Amino acid sequence: MTFEIFEQLERGGFEELSAHSDRRSGARALVAVHSTALGPAFGGIRRWRYLDEDGAVRDVLRLAQAMTYKCALASVPAGGAKLVLMDHAGLDLERAYEFVGELLEQRAGRVFSGPDVGTGERELGLVRAHTRFVTDPGPAGPGELSACTAAGVVAGIGAALEHLDGLVRWPDITVLVQGLGEVGARVARELQRLGARVLGVDVDDQRAAGVSGALGIELVSPSAQFETPCDVFAPCALGGVVHDLTLLRARCRVIAGAANNILVSTEHGDGLHERGVLYVPDIAISAGALIRGATFELTGERMPVAAVAARVGAVVSEILRRARAERAPPVRVAEREARRRVELQGRTG
Ligand code: NAD
Repeated sequence: MTFEIFEQLERGGFEELSAHSDRRSGARALVAVHSTALGPAFGGIRRWRYLDEDGAVRDVLRLAQAMTYKCALASVPAGGAKLVLMDHAGLDLERAYEFVGELLEQRAGRVFSGPDVGTGERELGLVRAHTRFVTDPGPAGPGELSACTAAGVVAGIGAALEHLDGLVRWPDITVLVQGLGEVGARVARELQRLGARVLGVDVDDQRAAGVSGALGIELVSPSAQFETPCDVFAPCALGGVVHDLTLLRARCRVIAGAANNILVSTEHGDGLHERGVLYVPDIAISAGALIRGATFELTGERMPVAAVAARVGAVVSEILRRARAERAPPVRVAEREARRRVELQGRTG
């Protein structure tokens, strides 16, 4: 099936999709700007080895749209964008990130970027040499981005459990954290501190062993993760976790985590709803870093981690409350509310 680019852009309300190649570095980069209706568009730089170009285009569009929705739900006066750098063996990383910096500079502040999968402090430093429209990974920057995401995820999990059970008795709760990286390891540590039983899984054996050793959490093998009974399954690895097969295998009451685009499609959120699994929309629960980062860039304020977590928890509670009142899947309620806010601003702003 061919991928209808213009159909996708028009239907999704995108402002920009552009493709850029740099012969010197071998860089192939995509820039997607979903919306600047609420303010400048924020979105990280994802470096990933895609199977094909269609996959990269789909990813950049979906991620940019999710950023707009995250901003709208979290009441951050900003919009959504994403940059994708297609990784391959011959890529000159240093020069490629400089090229990305030039792409941002050309957009003169309409797009503001930051870290994402494949882009950490070192890479951000290379980008910053060419533009100021990217997160400063040093002490002059917003700081504690992953900590804010993790704190938001824990607050969102708490809100989901309170929604189901009326109150949260952490010692009775088992959480399986998928992906023990920057965010997942912090989520695991905080949940354990609260008294929950924490299980962890990571495809990187060394990382799994390191986190398990440091925190004393039990590990689950990647092949058994979906069959492992738990109260909460917390995807903190990559997106695309819930698809036709995993939908049927889920043995948890709640799915709530930091990964972007956890559902392969919104329909999978309907499927979880039908099966009685409470899915906390990622556009609500994974906004911690965005709240801290965008607030800092827009106002200079470093919001305390606890305040960021409280905002995420409140947004999650409100979406789940409305979803229950409407007997609708939370993902539908969250997406509709985000679109409503963007459209309202588009008309009045
Ligand atoms: P990370 O790269 O530090 O950690 C991801 C971990 O997941 C790695 O240890 C990796 O080995 C593991 N992993 C990959 N595939 C897996 C699989 N199939 N099963 C189990 N483990 C697997 O990334 P991070 O910064 O912790 O971010 C985690 C997720 O949260 C990403 O999807 C990211 O886009 C999203 N996110 C992160 C932030 C943030 O502040 N860092 C903000 C919003 C969203």
